[in-house]
Amino acid sequence: MSDKAVQDTSCDTTVVEFSSANGHQFGEQYASQVDELRTVFQSGKTKSYAWRIAQLDAMKKLMQKHAADIQAAVNLDLGKSKTEAKFAEIALGLSEIAYLRKNLKRLMKPQKVSSPLAAFPSSSYIKYEPLGVALIIGAWNYPFHLTIAPLLGAIAAGCCAVIKPSELATNTSQLIAKLLPEYIDTDAFIVIEGGKEETSQLLTLKFDKIFYTGGEQVGKIVMSAASRHLTPVTLELGGKSPCLVDSSADIKTSAKRIAWGKFINLGQTCIAPDYVLVEASVKDAFVEELIKQIEVQYGKQPKTNSDYGRIINSRHCQRLAGYLVEQDVIYGGDIDIQAKYISPTLVMEPSSQSQIMSEEIFGPILPIKTMSSTQEMIDFVEARPHPLAAYVFTKDTAFQSNFENQVTAGNICVNDISMFMVNHQLPFGGVGTSGMGGYNGKYSFTSFCYEKSVMKRSFRLENNLRYAPYTSFKTWLMSKFIR
Ligand code: NAD
Repeated sequence: MSDKAVQDTSCDTTVVEFSSANGHQFGEQYASQVDELRTVFQSGKTKSYAWRIAQLDAMKKLMQKHAADIQAAVNLDLGKSKTEAKFAEIALGLSEIAYLRKNLKRLMKPQKVSSPLAAFPSSSYIKYEPLGVALIIGAWNYPFHLTIAPLLGAIAAGCCAVIKPSELATNTSQLIAKLLPEYIDTDAFIVIEGGKEETSQLLTLKFDKIFYTGGEQVGKIVMSAASRHLTPVTLELGGKSPCLVDSSADIKTSAKRIAWGKFINLGQTCIAPDYVLVEASVKDAFVEELIKQIEVQYGKQPKTNSDYGRIINSRHCQRLAGYLVEQDVIYGGDIDIQAKYISPTLVMEPSSQSQIMSEEIFGPILPIKTMSSTQEMIDFVEARPHPLAAYVFTKDTAFQSNFENQVTAGNICVNDISMFMVNHQLPFGGVGTSGMGGYNGKYSFTSFCYEKSVMKRSFRLENNLRYAPYTSFKTWLMSKFIR
């Protein structure tokens, strides 16, 4: 097999060529497994309401029975506390199951639509049909939830799936590979563990849907591979999510919520505030309160606080340490690469061109820049790639609506961080470089479906206008029906 690695210089990410030298196709080792899934899908087994509900129930049982195992695995991978693991890795998924269970019948029901006079008599409706065999590629930062949540959508939609957890969160990946086959239908779902090599092999195969969560560079590789089979993709990517604070904001509550949203999971959250833009008149008060809130939440020695986890690996720790070179670190900055530890860190006034202001930080470092007006803040955000989330803290309703109307972002939250995640009525996803497509609640279901249009006509009342020969009378009469 000539799985020759080549360097994709545009995104500095190694991609693997799909060519083969000895007649064997790259990716062949998984081809038969995917073929088997397709046979199962085509049998119709996964389409019934009862089967979908049984799988959702099995997932619920898995998560309830193995909550302690999940907590232990994410603790080993990221030093995540039991509490954080319980609400961010388990409770969110359980609540998604509860939503899908409660609403599945309604979601599966054909949606009736009206029919035009030109097609009278007829009835029309839209059916949400499962796309088929999906590939779900998970991320490492919430390694259980971000792999399982798309799977819940695939189950609800009636799809089969290959699930590829992130290799960086080794313990969670192994746990997912062990537990899923014990609970859900192994005819319809398989877990394949591995990293770049295995993902690249999977990406050569034809899937009916690819759901990818991760960085922008690999997102491009995924989309490019999907284009070979015209496979639809959902790309849940990241980016630099801005957080704006103006002089009217409740500084104490803003600082408290920003400290929580930024330092939970050590900033390794795709919707964590990446940087803060603060109005000059409240800069000092905000920074002072932010430091106070960090210490209320994590104490003066976060390294020994079990609520404060660790960076996923030393490579990422090293990357984050690099952002601090020649920066004005006004708080924190304690780094222990071997222990994969970085304390909550604040950086003042980095230049807009610096690395820390150009790349997604994805760690516990928060740059703060002072701005002289709210419009300057909006302009700053809009001059950059569209973020996954954008936050504004203000009591000024005019600023709130300017922010909402002028900022392009996947998710916007006024006066809080990340809380839109708990609302199943809101789709979660990015725009532009932060991704495409969304999920959560009914959007988890629809992202694994396609909309099948159905029109039913009867043999009664034949209207001969559309048939040749086209006389001038027919043309005139037709124009009365079709405008
Ligand atoms: P990544 O993009 O490096 O890896 C994600 C997956 O891609 C892994 O399963 C991995 O095996 C696979 N992979 C890695 N390199 C590959 C290659 N060359 N070819 C094929 N597959 C490959 O993950 P990351 O960049 O470290 O994750 C962090 C990023 O993910 C951040 O940008 C973050 O914002 C984003 N993220 C987004 C969401 C979301 O829901 N939108 C959630 C979590 C993380």
